[in-house]
Amino acid sequence: MAIEAVIFDWGGTLTPWHDVDLLDIWRTYSSTYDDSRTEELACALHQGEQARWSQQFQTNGAQGTGVLEELFEECGVDTSSPQHAKALAAYLAEWDPHTYTDSDATALLENLRGRGIKTAVLSNTMWPRAHHEGVLQRDGVLHLFDYLLFTSEWETGKPHATVFTDVLYNLDVSAENTAFVGDRLFDDIQGSQNLGMRGIWIPHSTIPASQSTDLNITPAATINRLGEVLDVVLAWNEN
Ligand SMILES: [Mg+2]
Repeated sequence: MAIEAVIFDWGGTLTPWHDVDLLDIWRTYSSTYDDSRTEELACALHQGEQARWSQQFQTNGAQGTGVLEELFEECGVDTSSPQHAKALAAYLAEWDPHTYTDSDATALLENLRGRGIKTAVLSNTMWPRAHHEGVLQRDGVLHLFDYLLFTSEWETGKPHATVFTDVLYNLDVSAENTAFVGDRLFDDIQGSQNLGMRGIWIPHSTIPASQSTDLNITPAATINRLGEVLDVVLAWNEN
């Protein structure tokens, strides 16, 4: 079966993995929002964020993380206030250096599309679509995807089948004709291969212990840098 579509995870896959101090980024948010309770609010946001990721992991993606706005409201933030808008901008600015698209991405995506292979992003994320599209636009790759699914818009998340099947439906391809590229064996590789896709694993990310598990799973291919996806797909399509 020839590969007709390649779906990419985002964090740690399209964007190289960075070890980020999440609590510290929340301190930047909180000190801008209300500097009289920076530490208290930062800890609440951080804990709430981690709880949402744990819940998603423990339910195999049957319960997603929801969207950032829900987390803010849970922590008592007035999301309609000018202070929130200012703090959110500071939060995103702090994330900025960690969201750059891999330097292999543009050539890889152009090569795939030049061969008639469709491309998509499927990301487990609490960020709203606008943040993600802004990042992909900044790096000049937004137009190189046929479809984008951000789980902040969904009730579920990877490895749950629903999000994978939605992407397949929108690309109009079958699982057998699709490769999935990701850095997490559980969410990305097991999730996609369970449906019959071929998983391509990039194993260089630090996965938090609370979101990882021992898996007896063999990816269809393992690569060391993003650009190698092209060789893997072309080799499969020659056979
Ligand atoms: Mg990832």
